Amino acid sequence: MNTPNMPAVYGNQQLLSELRTMRKQNHLPHALLLHGERGCGKKLIAKWFAMLVLCEHPDSAPCGTCKSCRLAAEDAHPDITTAEHSGKRMGFSVETVRDIRREASVLPNNGDMRVFIFPDADGMSIQAQNALLKSVEEPPAHSCFVFTAGSVGVLLPTLLSRMTAKAVFPVTAGECTEALLKRDYPDADIRAAAARFGGNIGKCIAYLSDPAVKRAADDAAALSAALAERNEYEMLRLLTAAAADKDQLIRTLELLDAQVRDAAVLTLEGSFPRLGCDRAAAETLSSGLTPRRAMRMHGAIREAFADLDGNVSAVLTATALCAALCDA
Ligand SMILES: [Zn+2]
Repeated sequence: MNTPNMPAVYGNQQLLSELRTMRKQNHLPHALLLHGERGCGKKLIAKWFAMLVLCEHPDSAPCGTCKSCRLAAEDAHPDITTAEHSGKRMGFSVETVRDIRREASVLPNNGDMRVFIFPDADGMSIQAQNALLKSVEEPPAHSCFVFTAGSVGVLLPTLLSRMTAKAVFPVTAGECTEALLKRDYPDADIRAAAARFGGNIGKCIAYLSDPAVKRAADDAAALSAALAERNEYEMLRLLTAAAADKDQLIRTLELLDAQVRDAAVLTLEGSFPRLGCDRAAAETLSSGLTPRRAMRMHGAIREAFADLDGNVSAVLTATALCAALCDA
């Protein structure tokens, strides 16, 4: 795990060991879907998987030392292709998919396999998925496809049924802190990030390194606390401040929506992963929250997204949302 060329994957060791066994038995899937919440390490595991597929030492793959592993670690392996996103929804164009299909039919440069990675396939259009269907259904023997997505539900059932789907989970709080300490962030900042996003290393790193993400998370936490108190004045103040920048408003609302979702699941039996950025505020919001009220809040936030998408001004959207949330 400490070989310099190896992607540092924290947690999810059972998944890794399952895939390693598949490689040893020569039973690796030709199409793999890694699904799980944003920031939990799916892309890193996709890279690790490409190394596993291409490593020159099947029994110790990925070894991290062979030429293939080294090239993969440097993102320079000629047989690993990562599909590029395009368009407003960050999907993959039909042209991109066609190029990849063409490439998939060509023999590998170095070894026995070619690996095609489709990161964040959530925004993949139906047309692009259909264009890819044939390659995934009857993949050339030397081609392997890896997709990452938030959930299995984003892919067409026809495409999904040809894949092996594996869940990727956030790590423990301890593993998360360990990963962040390796990156030399100040201790106090790491504690603040871990309090916001628990074992989601990707979200913690974004919080620590991107002031816009930090502000959105702090604002969404304050907003959900104000919503719990039905403090309309404070909500309006926070929302109109965020609305000075439309992208910032979108980031904040995504997290507020996650807070509402967390509050809603806290009223249910059973344990669910937390997606928001403030557990205490979600707990306060959950007290006395009916499913219907949670759905109305979620609906109001979705409507705000639709308005922003339709070019309604951010300030108008924020003001309307504030009223809708307080009436929900
Ligand atoms: Zn290797």
